[in-house]
Amino acid sequence: MIKGTTKLLGVIGHPIEHSLSPVMHNAALSHLGLDIVYLAFPVKPEDLNVAISGFAAVGLLGFSITIPHKQGILPLLSEVSPVAIAVGAVNTVYRTANGWGGTNTDVRGFLAPLRSLSLKTGTKQDWSQKVAVILGSGGAARAVVAGCAELGCAEIHVVGRSEQKLTEFQQNWVNSPLAVNLLTHTWEELPMLISKADLLVNATPIGMYPRGDESPVALSAIERLPEGAIAYDLIYTPNPTLFLKQAQERGAIAIDGLEMLVQQGAAALEIWLQQPIPVDVMRQSLRHHLGL
Ligand code: NAP
Repeated sequence: MIKGTTKLLGVIGHPIEHSLSPVMHNAALSHLGLDIVYLAFPVKPEDLNVAISGFAAVGLLGFSITIPHKQGILPLLSEVSPVAIAVGAVNTVYRTANGWGGTNTDVRGFLAPLRSLSLKTGTKQDWSQKVAVILGSGGAARAVVAGCAELGCAEIHVVGRSEQKLTEFQQNWVNSPLAVNLLTHTWEELPMLISKADLLVNATPIGMYPRGDESPVALSAIERLPEGAIAYDLIYTPNPTLFLKQAQERGAIAIDGLEMLVQQGAAALEIWLQQPIPVDVMRQSLRHHLGL
């Protein structure tokens, strides 16, 4: 029940109505019996400054950030974590003694299913000889590159459609504290890259609902994926995507975007609440909401 004492968390974006974050966060908050609710706030870019000043004034405990504010929030924060600096984007904002602090939990979210894969197989995966191929060079691709660098991948290849954007993308990693062995490519080079990919990540929206009949990778190219490679799609609807279905038919291990979504949210909640988070409750609430 919402009372005079109820505290607030939230997510800002524009648009924001589609966000699944309120579903999973409120499920966790209610499971923990906390007097806190999590709401979605539509905030236009030109209103960002006044919105976060207002959030401080009314005592928000913290908030998540989604498109288009992940970069725009940076100059408005009094502290930014090293991982958010490396990625160049913030998705989680928390209170500090001097104002708002920001971090990025997408990297942790991206890595969680890869790490649990090692646990399931009972073998600690050695990534030092592995080749990662990432499709897309937008915001999510930056978190994926940081994740692959943290794993220690031997080579990280990023595929994009604009040479200029790819050059800028590569430039952004030049002074990064992470050791990133990054090469960028246009889509024509993809079939050649796929043949040596140990991890192939879709960080584009191609194949996302309602265009579930599309895949970022042609069937003739996916056939080149080495058996046992990991195909990872950041998209969570449909589930699985055509890309994952075709990769799985080729013998790949498939990972969908749902677990990343859950784990980045759980990591944010842990920062705000400073207590263990019921990740299963968050996962189940999302699966139920999506009809999975
Ligand atoms: P973004 O910043 O808009 O980047 C999208 C990237 O995809 C850009 O590089 C874009 O190229 C490329 N792209 C888009 N349409 C394309 C097409 N038709 N052909 C080739 N390239 C295309 O978006 P984002 O935030 O990185 O998100 C990317 C995907 O990841 C989305 O589907 C999103 O839902 C998903 N995601 C999932 C999670 C999760 O927790 N599971 C988290 C974040 C994102 P240009 O730059 O040339 O336009």
